[in-house]
Amino acid sequence: MSFSTKDAILDYCKLNGIEISDDVAEKFETLSDMLLEFNSHTNVTALKTREDIAIKHFADSIAVLKYDLIKKNASVIDIGCGAGFPGLPIKMLRPDIKITFVDSTAKKLKFTNSVAEAFSMTDVETCPDRAEELVAKGKREKYDVAVSRAVASLPVLCELVLPYIKTGGCFVAYKSSIEADVNNKDSELSKAMGGIKKLGGKVEGILDASLPGTNDETQKHSLIVIRKTGKTPDSFPRRYAQILKKPL
Ligand code: SAH
Repeated sequence: MSFSTKDAILDYCKLNGIEISDDVAEKFETLSDMLLEFNSHTNVTALKTREDIAIKHFADSIAVLKYDLIKKNASVIDIGCGAGFPGLPIKMLRPDIKITFVDSTAKKLKFTNSVAEAFSMTDVETCPDRAEELVAKGKREKYDVAVSRAVASLPVLCELVLPYIKTGGCFVAYKSSIEADVNNKDSELSKAMGGIKKLGGKVEGILDASLPGTNDETQKHSLIVIRKTGKTPDSFPRRYAQILKKPL
């Protein structure tokens, strides 16, 4: 029997206590078709099978919904979203949220736009811009929640993302569990601790986001939740070259 994206998503949601209707699960089947079709002419993902897409893109993206982090009608920003991950699957399950997609590569956002249109999504904004530049265009301290996956190492990423978040809001960084290990001094999280404080943030928790069928410790995923406890000083973000050269 051929692989069913719908069933895989329904199973994942059931296992993780995430509310989903049959209709929405069915839409993931279409999303998978659209991603494969788009990827055949514009490279937006290395994943080629429907199963990999269902698990490693869709289920991985919605892991945040296992936790009560995104309140009703929240404003959410996805930084370095590529084709729209994790933001698109989150928006499919949570039509109440307002979401802004940011990526420096405009062609990737074309996919996000076409999906938003195909599913008649409302409250979707796409910004083809660099994260460290867009923030000065009226987006500073404006979002309840920021999400980001596979964009940069955490010390760099925090400087790109935290300026967007309101005091009291949070940043959910999608990371491998190895990089989220605060007991390992070489992990991205350990290296980011000083910078997070300077940016007005505080690590609130490390949440499990492992995918079905991952028993291997090196393959486990975590969500690093960073709460914004105060404003980010206006001197951040610096220019990208500076952020890379001297991470906070
Ligand atoms: N989040 C997606 C894509 C990851 S690839 C996923 O998990 O599938 C990393 C993406 O980040 C690329 O599309 C790249 O264009 C974008 N990116 C990297 N640095 C950026 C920056 N400073 N501002 C905006 N986008 C950036």
